[in-house]
Parts: sequence; C-alpha cells; structure tokens
Amino acid sequence: MRGLWVTFKSMFEKPVTIQYPEEKREVRKRFRGRHELHRYENGLEKCIGCSLCAAACPADAIFVEASENTDEKRFSPGERYASTYEINMLRCIYCGYCEDACPTEAITLGDNYELSYYDRRSAIYTKDMLLDPVPATAMLTPQKTETGVFTRSVPEMENPKD
Ligand code: SF4
Ligand code: SF4
Repeated sequence: MRGLWVTFKSMFEKPVTIQYPEEKREVRKRFRGRHELHRYENGLEKCIGCSLCAAACPADAIFVEASENTDEKRFSPGERYASTYEINMLRCIYCGYCEDACPTEAITLGDNYELSYYDRRSAIYTKDMLLDPVPATAMLTPQKTETGVFTRSVPEMENPKD
C-alpha cells in the first residue's frame, strides 16, 4: 500500500528526466566538452602551431604539425600555423591542460558532449572538424594579407621593442 502511495504521489511531481536527444540539457559554465579551435574576427586562425598544448597533454592525445605562413597564403598571424591538428578523443581525459597551455587562446573545451564512434579512427578529430566557422564578414583561410601587418603571433600583445 505504501509503495502504491509513493507511485501515486510521483505522478504529480515535475519529471527530472528529459526527452534526449530531442531535448538537451544545458551544461554548466565550466563544463569541459569537445575542443574548439578559434578564429579571429577577420577569419585568421588563432592557432600558431606551437605544440604547447601537445606538450602539456598528459594523455598524449594531441598531434600538431606546423608550417610556415606567407603573406600570399596566410592561415594565422605570425610565422607559423598548424598544417595538421588532431585530437584523439578516446585518449582525452578532459583535464583542460591544453587550454591552459595555449598562448593565443586558440583552443578551448566547448559544450559538445555528444561523442560516440563506430570505430577508433572516427574518434580522431581533425583541424577542419575542430575549427570555428568563418565569421560572416570574414574570409576563409588561407588569406592573402598585406605585407608586414601580421608579423606577430599574438596580434594584441604589445611589442616590447616599441
Ligand atoms: S583536455 Fe587534457 S587530455 Fe584532453 S587533449 Fe587537452 S590536455 Fe589532453
Ligand atoms: S592550440 Fe594553442 S598551444 Fe596548441 S598548437 Fe595551437 S597555438 Fe599552440
């Protein structure tokens, strides 16, 4: 009889479950989900291929290969950009060390928690999968840029020689 009463009472309570995947629960502000690689407003990539994130990663989940930028074919400010950037999500432990290590704030852990794979290869996220979409007013990378404008890897950082 007591059990029946508990069941009856719960029929009038607000449900704690949601209809996933139609309905999605909002994540907390500090949630660490799938990584995102960011761009500047002009469309240039923030990642400069320095590999500090890969060095900081305790799970050896990140692989970065850098190449040289030119003003004719520029991906990011400064000398170098990441020609290859991969994260193996099966290795990642979502510690956030990569985000902390990045000098340009290029990589952050985002809100996406929908990570499932049919095979191991699909768990490797490439640069194209991680990069933010190009802002509406900007151009896709590589861009042709003016000589001498994007010489610094972190454009907003002051030049100590100035
Ligand atoms: S969150 Fe941690 S484990 Fe995952 S890629 Fe970044 S540093 Fe590596
Ligand atoms: S994401 Fe940041 S730390 Fe990693 S290679 Fe790019 S610029 Fe360097």
